[in-house]
Parts: sequence; structure tokens; C-alpha cells
Amino acid sequence: MKVPVATPDITDEDVQKVSECVKSGWVSGISPYVTEFEEKFAEWNGSKYATVTGSGTTALHLALAALGLPPGSEVIMPSLTMIASANACNYLGLKPVFADIEPDTWCVNPEKIEEVITPDTKAIMPVHIYGHPCDMGRIMEIAWDHDLMVVEDCAEAHGATWKKKKVGTFGDMNAYSFYANKIITTGEGGIITTDDRELDDKAKWLRAHAFGKHGKHYWHDTVGYGYRMSGMQAALGTSQLSRIDYYINKRRLHAWYYKSKLKPLEEAGLITMPVQRENYENVYWMFSVIFSPELLSRVPRASIIAEMENLGIETRTFFYPLHNLPPYWSDKPLPITDDVSRRGINLPSGNQLTNEQIEYVCDCLKEIIS
Ligand SMILES: *Cc1c(COP(=O)(O)O)cnc(C)c1O
Repeated sequence: MKVPVATPDITDEDVQKVSECVKSGWVSGISPYVTEFEEKFAEWNGSKYATVTGSGTTALHLALAALGLPPGSEVIMPSLTMIASANACNYLGLKPVFADIEPDTWCVNPEKIEEVITPDTKAIMPVHIYGHPCDMGRIMEIAWDHDLMVVEDCAEAHGATWKKKKVGTFGDMNAYSFYANKIITTGEGGIITTDDRELDDKAKWLRAHAFGKHGKHYWHDTVGYGYRMSGMQAALGTSQLSRIDYYINKRRLHAWYYKSKLKPLEEAGLITMPVQRENYENVYWMFSVIFSPELLSRVPRASIIAEMENLGIETRTFFYPLHNLPPYWSDKPLPITDDVSRRGINLPSGNQLTNEQIEYVCDCLKEIIS
């Protein structure tokens, strides 16, 4: 049996919608298919406005650009994230400052955010890692107290909620990704959600070269970007969006099944599994396990991964902490981040995963580690 980490689920309905767009000629970023996707996603998310872009990375970059933070400003974020969160800051001369994570949710720890605030701090970028929402109550409170902007990185957490409110509705500007392995996909793509009309207008203006000031199309007051999403991608997005709640529900069921199958390993102290805190809804973008130090002293993580690979099961290691990588190296200790990152792996988690595949993955894992 072959079990990939994730595969996109593209249906005949998706193909039909994309084909309709292509035949209509509205293929560029100026297209009714783009506005349709923006309006429908904003409505589903519970946000007033949305702006699509060519990727999650460009959505983060554009969101920060629209906020207009002065270069040199510090943006507090977790170090356990995909590098795009930090790169988006870097492109604008903003400085990512890392705060340690919570040991159970693996999300940035609000108390650790407070510890690293300086007079140069201008924003917080919470990342809802692997589908578990950050503690948005505390984070928004800290942002209020210190007059900071909030940009949520929702790339891995479409539909996750804190106190029944969806992620991507708390921050000033929030970004999602529609990369092929995300909860819904446009191949490549991203979206910014906001309730602020002015910020949304600015994002749309900057997205396409900052055209057309003073009634003159080719007059540019500032340096904009070529960050539009094509009509075809948006058509695929609208079609995928019609099934998003079904996918989220499916992922939550997969996670429930994984948890029931792997419970004996957790009870034996060999692994820990993702949590779902009370008042939070985890969408389990990547169902992950953390191997115990005792287990890893017996079998290294790399051999577990290699043995799974031999059995046809694709896995991923956790992200390397950004503060250990050359572009963002820092010797400030982040002990929980380092520990979780060294011991964690992502198991197959795609929308198309079947119960038989989950059983196979769990049986193989049990075989390898017990
Ligand atoms: C995938 C991802 C991104 C980047 O999205 P792209 O669409 O690949 O550019 C940003 N942040 C996080 C946390 C992600 O997982």
C-alpha cells in the first residue's frame, strides 16, 4: 500500500468550473471568477473583505505591506513554522522575533510573546500550526495592551475556531494558502481576509502594481507588486470552497480515528498526539505525533521515517525551527520549540485519506516502535 502525506482532491465539478472560466476568456486576475472567489471565501470565513494572491507567501507579504509598518519594526512569531512566515517580513525589512511555543498545541505561547516585546515591536504573527488555533483571546489582549497589529498566518488552519469564531477573523490582516497540500487548493494561491475596508483597498491596489492614481491609469505613486491570482485558479478555488466544510469534517474524523488507533502507544508513553483544547476546534491539517525521548534513545527518528518509507508510507519531519536556519539564526534559547521540532513527525493527512490507510499507517507504526 502507498500512503502519501497529502494529495489534492480535484473533482469533475472542479474541472468543469475551470474549463468554464477558460472558455469565458476571463483568465487573468481581472475576472468575475476572482471576485466570486473573494466574496464567497470572505462570507464563509466571516470576514467583510478578501483579496486573493498568487500564493500564501505573497498574501502574507501583501498583508504586511498594506499595514505599512516602518522598516526595522519587529514582528513576533513562532520559530516552529514554515519559513514563508518570516520571509514575508524579511522582504519588507521587518525583523522576525521568535517566541517559544506551548508544549501541547505547538502554537506560539502568549506569555512568551509578552517577554520579547520591545519598543520596536509593531506586530504579532500567530501561526495556527498544523491546524490548531492559537490562543487568540490572549493574543488579541496583548495586542491591545501594547498597541500592536496582528497578522494571522492561517495557511494550515482553514475553518479552525477559537470560541466558535474562525481563525482569520481576529487579526487586522490575515493570510491563507491554497497550495496543493493545503485544506483546499488552487494549485498555487493565497488570500488575505480583513474587516478593514481601507486595508483591503490598499492590498488590492498594491497587488497589481499600484495602478491608476489621480485618474491616470499608468500613474504609479508607489512600488506595487505583480501578485494577482488568475481567473482559472480562482475558479478552482470557488469550486473547492463548496466542499470545504466536508473536507474539514473528514479531517477531524481522520484525526479521531488516528487517536483511537494510536492510543495504546500514547498510553505506553511512546508518543504524544495532537490535542484539541476546550473552546478550540483543531482542523488537523497534518496529523502529527511526537516520539518520546525514551523511544528515540532506542530508535532514532530517522530510522522510523526510513522504515515507514520502506512500507510505502510518506511522512514529514516537523519544521526545523527558523532560529536554527542560516537566514534567521539566533542563539536565544527556545527550548520547547527545539524539543518538539526534533521529536515530531507528520503522518499522512490528506483529504483523500481512507480508514484502511489510517489502519495500515497505525499498524506499521506500532510494529516499528514497539
Ligand atoms: C504553506 C504555508 C505558507 C506559504 O504558503 P504558499 O502558498 O506555499 O506560499 C505560509 N505559512 C505557513 C504556516 C504555511 O504552512
